[in-house]
Amino acid sequence: MPRTGVFICHCGTNIAGTVDIEKTVKASRSFPGVVHADDYRYLCSEMGQDIIKNAIKDNNLDRVVVGTCSPRMHEQTFRKAASEAGLNPYMVEVANIREHCSWVHRNMDEATPKAVALVRAAAAKAALNDPLEAPAIEVEKRALVIGGGIAGIQTALDIAEAGYVVDLVEREPSIGGRMAQLEKTFPTLDCSACILTPKMVEAAQHPNINLITYSEVEEVKGFVGQFDVKIRQKARSIDPVKCTGCGICYEKCPAKAPSEFEMGRAKRKAIYVPFPQAVPNIPVIDRENCLYFKKGRCQICAKECPPQAVDYEQQDEILERRYGVIVVATGFDQLDPSIYGEYGYGQHPDILTGLEFERLFNASGPTAGKVVRLSDGKPPKKVVFIQCVGSRDKARGMNYCSKICCMYTAKQALLLKEKLPDAKSYVFYIDVRTAGKGYEEFQRRAAEEYDVAYLRGQVGKIFPENDYLVVRGVDSLSGKTIEINADMVVLAAAAIARSDATELGRIVGINSDSYKFFNEAHPKLKPVETHTAGIFIAGACQAPKDIPDTVAQAGAAAVKAIGLLSKELLKGEACTAEVNQAECSGCLYCEAVCPYNAINPVEIEERYHGGTLQRTVAEVNPSLCQGCGSCTVICRSGSINLRGFTNEQILAEVDAICLQR
Ligand code: SF4
Ligand code: SF4
Repeated sequence: MPRTGVFICHCGTNIAGTVDIEKTVKASRSFPGVVHADDYRYLCSEMGQDIIKNAIKDNNLDRVVVGTCSPRMHEQTFRKAASEAGLNPYMVEVANIREHCSWVHRNMDEATPKAVALVRAAAAKAALNDPLEAPAIEVEKRALVIGGGIAGIQTALDIAEAGYVVDLVEREPSIGGRMAQLEKTFPTLDCSACILTPKMVEAAQHPNINLITYSEVEEVKGFVGQFDVKIRQKARSIDPVKCTGCGICYEKCPAKAPSEFEMGRAKRKAIYVPFPQAVPNIPVIDRENCLYFKKGRCQICAKECPPQAVDYEQQDEILERRYGVIVVATGFDQLDPSIYGEYGYGQHPDILTGLEFERLFNASGPTAGKVVRLSDGKPPKKVVFIQCVGSRDKARGMNYCSKICCMYTAKQALLLKEKLPDAKSYVFYIDVRTAGKGYEEFQRRAAEEYDVAYLRGQVGKIFPENDYLVVRGVDSLSGKTIEINADMVVLAAAAIARSDATELGRIVGINSDSYKFFNEAHPKLKPVETHTAGIFIAGACQAPKDIPDTVAQAGAAAVKAIGLLSKELLKGEACTAEVNQAECSGCLYCEAVCPYNAINPVEIEERYHGGTLQRTVAEVNPSLCQGCGSCTVICRSGSINLRGFTNEQILAEVDAICLQR
């Protein structure tokens, strides 16, 4: 017969305000196997834990049920306390009478019987608990950072500085990400390249960092401490050891294609580096546009390359590596504003997105740093900026605020005035949001000192007329229609999740929110962790954010990663699946659903009618199994059970709840 102790927590008034603690304790004393029941104001406190520990010893308890908050909050606390009192930690059950009960009821008469039922169910399950041992997992002292923008670079540098080897994987030919596209950063107006390039070089030269550019993660298997990853390193068609980065190849190359870095607003060669400060400074051949790959002729780059670094035969390589931790820092995309037909984006060269406009200020941008109209090369006299294009728009765009647009618009309007003192900027806005150190002051400076006209309202139509673009909108403060004959229009397009985010999330094993940004494990308490142990997120792949927040989050992700890498051994999952092979039919549906590839077919021999029979059945690798339970649900013959959550235990809980009624 089990000897179960029940402990009910008040959680201040969080539970005690809605659940009658005395009644719950009294009812608990009558549950089968319960030999002790008690309560305390805060069981998670040191005093509360001592109450549990002493009761285990004094009453010779072999099981503990704690009626308290969510097991996500304090299951580990109570397991540790039980373990310190000599009890196997898996003999502890948590009944969530806060989130599942007191917080969702107002009435004590309703909440109390429910709390009693939940505790009764936990006691019924505890009666069937077996002691479990978590396996020890060796930690591979190597980190993988996916994404080479400022978030990935900062994370890699911080981990590398702590003494661990980091592979920094970037799908583009160079690291740098979005920040490399910026001319200046708000609110300090630092030259973006001047603060980013030293970091890019530092990452490239750091003895603990391996840059793996022009590469993509194709497969992730395993678990925290031991992730087995396949990375496709795409063929650059250049031998990186021989290449000196002289640039003669792209000077001479006759084939051109739209530049991805300039978002199609300028051309690059078929052999190219994305931007002049690219790291590594090694070109790639874009085989789709190269004349040699397309038509079998040309080879000018090979002939002109002094160290003979061009290699048309180079093939993609698959790198297979093991990592202890993974940090995902893949950044964001910009919404295509052509979904808003009224703005005419894509139909006129002088209607640009904010990022495209930013490139006009840059010396290596499409206009060599001259802010001019792309239609005729003339400097604009009137520029209209439109905020929230695709942001805060539930109907057609994204429901959220992109967080950076108000500030980069103020920055661009200010820079425009500095470049072209005669130019006038107009900003159509819904609200101006400037939360950040020095942001409010910066935006005011743009409006007051740089003569930027802020118009509260929305634009209904933009259309070309004569030599200009007519911007027709409504001033929502005065209710009047406004018409501006603009030379250029800049759309603050929403920051959105990368188009490949869902696929990467599937490969890596992390989930996303409804906007396809990666989900953090807890919005307040675990902002860089994901629900998959050992995988962290940093930067705008989690939600739109500015550079200071991105760098701060990257540092936080690095610290979490270092925390894991510094351990020799990690505790594995004790609640793993096990197959009753005598009953397994060998359908292997479980193998197909297991997200951790923990199930394999094995051949077994069975006695059958006096002879032997060979059969295929499923087998679980306990060091890979993460106890998600998918296999137990899919198994039609019911031959898989999860240790700690067996079918018998779950049915006992259901029975206990039904009995209560
Ligand atoms: S072979 Fe291709 S990449 Fe090389 S110069 Fe000719 S077109 Fe350009
Ligand atoms: S519980 Fe089953 S499906 Fe889940 S990880 Fe373990 S073996 Fe795979």
